[in-house]
Parts: sequence; structure tokens; C-alpha cells
Amino acid sequence: MDKFVLASGNKGKLKEFSEIFAQYGVEVLPQSQFNVEEVPETGTTFVENAIIKARHAAEVTGLAAIADDSGLEVDLLDGQPGIYSARYAGEEASATDNYEKLLEALKENQEGRTARFQCILVYMRHAKDPTPIICQASWEGRIGFEVKGANGHGYDPIFIPNEQQCTAAELSSDEKNRLSHRGKAMSKLIDAMQKQGILI
Ligand code: IMP
Repeated sequence: MDKFVLASGNKGKLKEFSEIFAQYGVEVLPQSQFNVEEVPETGTTFVENAIIKARHAAEVTGLAAIADDSGLEVDLLDGQPGIYSARYAGEEASATDNYEKLLEALKENQEGRTARFQCILVYMRHAKDPTPIICQASWEGRIGFEVKGANGHGYDPIFIPNEQQCTAAELSSDEKNRLSHRGKAMSKLIDAMQKQGILI
């Protein structure tokens, strides 16, 4: 069985990637299994950070690696919190701290609260791979005025997708996977890997 390493310590992501890739006879192993430590995300774009993580995991394990990077872009804030989404309200900030800070930053703005989640997925055949596969997808919506819903994570309780009347945290996980930036980027990655003969 082919094996890829996932450059993430997130158990939810491991489950999601493992289930999808198992359908193609590929085992996805967490980087923690190889004692790969989290690498500082020093890039200034989602793409750079995803590549930094994938390259590091491939280097330490000698396996092909998959990494993702995602976040929320708010137009009124020139794309912030962007790559800083997880630590918008500080290094140790909780999801609640982050979305409360965002609601506060937008409190004078009744209009134009458009935003989108972005997801970048990167596959590197090896650490020196000069042409990683890079897939990107977004999920368009707007920032609501109040916190609603108990599903999902991060900014979901304040993000209202364009095609919905409710927040992302009020959607079922199946519905969210079908619509979201991550679900769409994942389909693109599988597609690209099949076209290149990496997945059969
Ligand atoms: P990561 O790169 O997937 O760890 O995501 C970085 C941060 O972006 C998360 O900590 C969340 O704050 C935010 N984020 C990314 N995707 C989502 C989502 O689907 N819902 C809510 N927040 C998200």
C-alpha cells in the first residue's frame, strides 16, 4: 500500500484525509508518528505556508507529503485575518476570541461584510519536488452580526455562506463538506493526482 504523510497534527484532518485516500489504496500517516515537529509557518501566503509544512514533513520522513493551509479573508480588512486566522486575537487565542475580535473590528460596518474561506492543498512527491501539486478553492459568503450555530469550528458561527440563510456552524458536516473551500480543494487534488497517475 502506498503511504503519504500528512503535515498536520489535527486529528479531524487526519480522519478526513485517511478516509478519502483509503478509497485509492493509499494510507495517510500523521507526521506525529515520525516525530515530525510543527514547523514555523514563516510564509506570507497560504501557498508558501502549505509548501513549508509539506516540504518539512517529506524531508523528515522520506515519504510523499500532503499539507493544507486555510483561513478567512475579509474584504473590509484587506484580506485579514488571512494567514493569521488561527492566531488573529493572539498566539493562544481561542476560536471565540478570534471571532469576537472580528465582530468588533466590523461593528461600524452594516454593509459590505463580504468574506471567504480559502483552502490550499499541496502534494509534494519528495522534499526537493520542484513542481508540487497545488490546489486552491474558496467559499464565498459574508460575516454576520451575531454568533449562531454549534457545529464546525473556527469562524463558522459568524460566517454566512452565499448560498445559505444560516451560518456555517448551523450546517450539517455533510452539507459543509459538500460546499466548503476544503471539500472543493480536496476534489481538485484527487483529480490532479489521478491525472498524473499518482492515484489510480
Ligand atoms: P488551518 O490552516 O486549517 O489550521 O486553519 C487556520 C484557521 O483558519 C483555523 O484555525 C480557523 O480559524 C480558520 N478556518 C479555516 N477553515 C475554516 C472553516 O472551515 N471554518 C471556520 N474557520 C476556518
